[in-house]
Amino acid sequence: MNYTGPVYRPPYEANTLLLQVTVGCAHNKCTFCTMYRDVKFSVDKMEQVEKDLQEAQEKYPKVKRVFLVNGDAFVLSGRRLKAVAEMIHKYLPEVEIITMYASINNIMGKTDEELADLAKLGIGDLWVGVETGLEDALDYLNKGASLQDAYEQLERLNRAGITFFYGFMFGAAGKGRGIENAEANAKLINTVKPLGIVPTTLSPNEGTKLAKDIAEGNFELATEREVLEEQKKTLELVDVPTYYMGIHIINTVSFDAQLPKDKQSAIDRVDYVISDTDDLVLDSVPLRHSI
Ligand code: SF4
Repeated sequence: MNYTGPVYRPPYEANTLLLQVTVGCAHNKCTFCTMYRDVKFSVDKMEQVEKDLQEAQEKYPKVKRVFLVNGDAFVLSGRRLKAVAEMIHKYLPEVEIITMYASINNIMGKTDEELADLAKLGIGDLWVGVETGLEDALDYLNKGASLQDAYEQLERLNRAGITFFYGFMFGAAGKGRGIENAEANAKLINTVKPLGIVPTTLSPNEGTKLAKDIAEGNFELATEREVLEEQKKTLELVDVPTYYMGIHIINTVSFDAQLPKDKQSAIDRVDYVISDTDDLVLDSVPLRHSI
């Protein structure tokens, strides 16, 4: 299989066939992200995609799930994605779901008819990095879309029948705003009802605008206590059935839970860590590695 530059996928896609259709990230401007910073965005030729699918057919003929890499593969036009999906079904007829990272902007770039067509071809379980439900924080993180766009575009996915996971970050709004961020995320989650919610935690990766702003005193990261209180509040406020998918290693208290069934045990788990951790640690900002 052909892979160019760094390849990221959600931890939950560890057993999924990774098929490269783009290199890098078309947006590549988020305030906090270094994932594809040094990679020039490009689109793979269909001949290359077909070659990879021929190889996959030989090695993994029974595969049921395909993840399209890289950073925002849903940026491809509806027509291109349709052609890729049809080619996947030709070579791997047992595939049920074709998933990938997607941004709110990527959804905006497709008509309702295109979205419906893609849903019929098995495109779903999109990993949508919304990051925060707070307008000003979203603006600062430079995701390239507004909060109103997020509400509208995620509802468009619902209407088209495309399932999705809501990616967000604890601490996204900075120091002193964890509860506010939890309330804003929960409001958006409760409105758009994602299949799952996928938290990570904001961290200052070297070379980013975020790291620079922190060094210059223009942004303050949330303390560990605030991050944990935000996690707890999010769990308390989400009141639609969804999967809490929080195993990313960047999260201090990482676990999965089925909501609402596991809500109380999930809250208790975070509470236990808060009560069992020294104040010195809780009131500090721990170093976190890059996502
Ligand atoms: S967070 Fe996602 S959309 Fe933003 S620059 Fe990084 S890979 Fe691209």
